[in-house]
Amino acid sequence: MADPAECTIKVVCRFRPLNSAEVARGDQYIPKFKGEDCVVIAVSKPYYFDRVFQSNTTQVQFYNAVAQKIVKDVLDGYNGTIFAYGQTSSGKTHTMEGKLHDPDMMGIIPRIVQDIFNYIYSMDENLEFHIKVSYFEIYLDKIKDLLDVSKTNLSVHEDKNRVPFVKGCTERFVCSPDEVMDAIDEGKSNRHVAVTNMNEHSSRSHSIFLINIKQENSQTEQKLTGKLYLVDLAGSEKVGKTGAEGTVLDEAKMINKSLSSLGNVISALAEGSTYVPYRDSKMTRILQDSLGGNCRTTMVICCSPSAFNDAETRSTLLFGQRAK
Ligand code: ADP
Ligand code: MG
Repeated sequence: MADPAECTIKVVCRFRPLNSAEVARGDQYIPKFKGEDCVVIAVSKPYYFDRVFQSNTTQVQFYNAVAQKIVKDVLDGYNGTIFAYGQTSSGKTHTMEGKLHDPDMMGIIPRIVQDIFNYIYSMDENLEFHIKVSYFEIYLDKIKDLLDVSKTNLSVHEDKNRVPFVKGCTERFVCSPDEVMDAIDEGKSNRHVAVTNMNEHSSRSHSIFLINIKQENSQTEQKLTGKLYLVDLAGSEKVGKTGAEGTVLDEAKMINKSLSSLGNVISALAEGSTYVPYRDSKMTRILQDSLGGNCRTTMVICCSPSAFNDAETRSTLLFGQRAK
């Protein structure tokens, strides 16, 4: 493993427990954990990550081990991205959001929000903070603003410094953890309203929450900005070739394309390639200045432990390995 201080891309893996339906069916629990960074599925070769988290890992343990450091980095002026990747029902939303208003069960987003404000409250008075959040989803390659339902097809532009951004997307200024949580609740309920089956919809769209932090020292006039993208990706499962047509097939193609272009970008960055194919998808364009270079990127590979999902789990683990 590279020196963590130098490593800008980290890949960690998290297994959820068997769920009640899997237990009732008598599914076999297949992962075998070797040390802190390795997992073996049945007789496969071992898969190595920066860390592997077993099914009994609590939300606070996961946050402390994976996300806490990034908050500090963003407050130091770095950009960062945390992704959750995995098949539907593997624990992506549990990891990113969890139960938003439950102190024990909340996922990394609400914990990050709390930590950012705790940091701000602890700083001296000469520092002024401006924090704004955006919340949008990408569905069928269209960007929808979750904080303004009238904006359903936003486009990606570049500012004068060639930094990409979603043009016209709501940026909400927030002054407290409660205001951030209100924005998240609002975005989530907007997302619900537009669709008939939320589980299906969330498995086919990427949701992206952006926290932008600007600090200004009123005495020295020094400025520092950092931003953090928190991404709950669409489900990575393969859609069966037979039967898929129309919208379902279009969705599958789009998801496939955006996830594979994300994989290509991450592996190009991990290899230190001179060419990184950011322009191949909207998501990688948007995230461009928060993935490579002077950034902190963490990919969370979420897995089901059930023998029933064996094939998907292996392909998920392989995706994660490409980034290393
Ligand atoms: P995804 O977002 O990948 O589709 P979810 O996060 O919604 O999956 O997880 C599916 C179900 O499994 C949810 O009911 C969730 O609460 C539960 N779950 C996921 N991960 C864990 C975990 N690590 N510990 C306990 N329950 C979990
Ligand atoms: Mg989900």
